[in-house]
Order: sequence, then structure tokens, then C-alpha cells
Amino acid sequence: MKLSVIGCGYLGAVHAASMAKLGHEVVGIDVDAQKVALLSAGQAPFFEPELPEILAEAGQTGRLTFTTDMSRVADATVHFIAVGTPQRHDGNAADLTYVEAAVDGLLPYLNADHLVVGKSTVPVGTAASLAARVAETGATLVWNPEFLREGFAVKDTITPDRLVYGVPAGDAGAHATEILDEVYAAAIGAGIPRIVTDLSTAELVKVAANAFLATKISFINAMAEIAEATGADVTQLADAIGHDERIGRRFLGAGIGFGGGCLPKDIRAFTARAEELGRGSSVAFLKEVDAINLRRREHAVTLVVDGLGGSVVGKRIAVLGASFKPHSDDIRDSPALDVAVRLHGLGADVVVTDPQALENARRVHPHLHYELDRDTALAGADAVIVVTEWDEYRRELSPSHAASLATGRLIVDGRNCLDPAAWRAVGWEYRGMGRP
Ligand code: NAD
Repeated sequence: MKLSVIGCGYLGAVHAASMAKLGHEVVGIDVDAQKVALLSAGQAPFFEPELPEILAEAGQTGRLTFTTDMSRVADATVHFIAVGTPQRHDGNAADLTYVEAAVDGLLPYLNADHLVVGKSTVPVGTAASLAARVAETGATLVWNPEFLREGFAVKDTITPDRLVYGVPAGDAGAHATEILDEVYAAAIGAGIPRIVTDLSTAELVKVAANAFLATKISFINAMAEIAEATGADVTQLADAIGHDERIGRRFLGAGIGFGGGCLPKDIRAFTARAEELGRGSSVAFLKEVDAINLRRREHAVTLVVDGLGGSVVGKRIAVLGASFKPHSDDIRDSPALDVAVRLHGLGADVVVTDPQALENARRVHPHLHYELDRDTALAGADAVIVVTEWDEYRRELSPSHAASLATGRLIVDGRNCLDPAAWRAVGWEYRGMGRP
């Protein structure tokens, strides 16, 4: 099929390359000329495992091109909207200007043979208002939310857990479903569940899923706060409740909490939209989820300050991690970088290291000191804090090797990803999140 993907960021670039890999002819469109130049040269503009390989593979087939020229959408009949929906600067709601600009840019090229497929995460009701504009051209608009995880984006795009189609009622919806089934023929052939529903439900599925995940993380972080007041161990608590299959162990890792380009802004946008709908009280708990999440960053900072005797002024602190999670270079709303910035603000000599995210981090926080080499970051450190659970810190850094480099013996485990006994055994003072 002939597809266009408008917006080639973390979602769109992976979607475009994956669809080409599956045999479709794809044109990716972005307003960012630098990103387009990299993608056109077969290079990934960000770190995402497997993306370079599928870009190269699809590029060789001639089925995948990238451009800044919107008129190239005329080459396609199915158009995916994959632009950003960040938090607005003046509040919690989602900024829909990019989605509106993408749809406006598309309108002149649409006719009754075309299908517009929204993938961006949007507040419920957005699709219905855009659908009216698209309908004037004779084309149909559907919403097909995306659930990919950065770090596993290619796999999640090609073999998702489920497909959700939000389509209009009647023949238009049935026809759109047939077209989407053809786009996703490989996944459907592999038996991946597909839910066909209306536009509002499809929009809500995405934000509800992220609200649930955020709540699960903040739940265990709330338990960590209680553990800290009682001497209990939140990791053992999570193991124990996680054996109950109704609860499950995943997303019960206490630590400095969630971040990234999705969960924080999605729960805020959901709250804002619910308030507009007069249903603010239904999701008022998400404000507490957000507050718990942000408190844990401050708690990690407090562990460092207390561990260093009440002040970090002039102390060298090795911060291991900058991306919001491992296997990604994404630093949007990264708890790891936030902790580094807060420690710097308290007067510490912060040295941040990360295997992938330093370039992005430096762009946003040029005043911090960065070292790509982990051991250089550790050298002479008065304290060490792990804030992103990369294997380089979690598995590959031995406590004795770290001790041979650092000057101090304080290790703060912001992700509860280290073995306290192993670190204590060679003389470190280990402090975890919600662990005695
Ligand atoms: P991103 O910022 O990485 O990418 C957005 C891209 O859109 C940028 O490259 C930008 O230049 C481009 N763009 C903006 N306006 C444009 C226009 N008018 N025409 C063409 N291109 C335009 O964002 P992202 O992380 O890829 O997220 C995109 C959407 O997908 C968001 O709604 C997000 O919530 C959702 N989402 C993201 C993920 C994820 O893991 N990143 C997962 C699921 C859903």
C-alpha cells in the first residue's frame, strides 16, 4: 500500500520504517530538515535499537523515502498523523497545534479515496472535531493509537500487543477497517488482537492505558514512602504482592519514578480534558499520582544530601544516567536529569554520564558537566547516584571497581536496581528508595 507518515519523531520514524519493512511504499514527512536529511541518509536521528537496521533494509528496497515537502503526500492514499502532542506551556492540557497543522497541511491533497489515520495521543474529542474537516474533502478520518515503548519500538510496531481502530459508524467505518487490516495484514495474520471501536473509545484507550501504568508506578512509590517511615523494604513488598497474578510484578519498581515524552504529559492532559468535560473528580487521583512521582525525585536528592552530612556544596557527585529510561536517548521530562539539575542547583559538582543521552542532555542543560566514559565520571566522586538503570550501571559495574575510582563511599540507588549486600560488603554506604 502507499502510505505517508506525517511527523517522523520517535513514533513516526519507527512507524514509517517498519511499514516499509512490511512491504508498503512509505513517504515520511517532517518539518525538521535535519531529521529528514539523516533519515534520508538511512541514519536514525535518535537512539532506538533495531531502527538503524530497518532503515538500511527498507532504504535499499527503494520503498522508503523522507522529505519536508508536504505535497509528496499525494503519492499515498493512507496518511498517518504521528506529530507531537506535548504539554501546553500555559497549563496541563495537550498542545494540539502540531496535529492541527499536520491535518491542515494534508487537506488540499485529500479526496474520497484517502484515509487519514491519527496515531498521536490526543484528548478525547479531538478526532471528532478533525473528522468534520477531513470529511469535507470526501476522505475519512480514523484513530489508531500507538502503544510502542521506546527501546522496543520496532518490535512493538511490527508485533504490537493489540491494534485499536477508532472508526466512524456505517460503511465508512467498515471500509476504513478493511484498509487498516490491509496495512496491518502481517500482525493480523499472526493473530494479534484487534479492537474496532468508535473514535472516542480509541482516544480514551491510549490515555487510560498510560494513566493506569503511571498509577501503578506511583502506587509502589507511595508504598516506598510508607516503607521509609517504618523500616520496611518496598522491594520485598513488591515481590510479595507481585506474585498475585491479579496484581503482577511489572511496573512495581519503586524508585525516582516515571518520566519521558508520554506518561507525565498524558496524565496531565487527561486531567485537563476530564475537567473540561465536568468529570474532573473522576480522575482527580491522577494529580496525586503526579505529585507522588515528583516527590520521589526530591527524595533521591535528600538521600544524597543527608548521606554527605547535610550539604553537597563543592562535592563531586557522579550521576549515572540521563535518559528517562534505559535503551533510549530520550530526556524529555527525565527524572534522572531532574535529579542531576537539582543537585547542581544545591551547589554540587555534578558529573553526568549516560551511554546514549548525553548529546540531548547537553543541548537542554549545557551548564552540567558530562562524561561519556562511566569510569571518568566515577573518578574522584564523593558520592554516586544511579538514576537510569542501564546495564552499564546495574549489571556491569562492580562495587569494588567503583570503589577503586570514587573517593567517597556513598551509593544512592535511585532505581533500586543494585544489590545492597554486594555494595555494603566492600564498604559502601548503600541507600535505596524505600529500602532499609
Ligand atoms: P517527537 O517529538 O519525537 O516527534 C514529533 C515529530 O513531528 C517531530 O519530528 C516534529 O518535527 C514533527 N512535526 C511537528 N509538526 C509537524 C508538521 N506539521 N508536519 C510534519 N511534521 C511535524 O514525538 P513522539 O515521541 O514521536 O510522539 C508523537 C506522538 O506519539 C505524541 O502524541 C505521543 O504522545 C505519541 N506517542 C509516543 C510514543 C513514544 O514512545 N514516543 C508512544 C506512543 C505514542
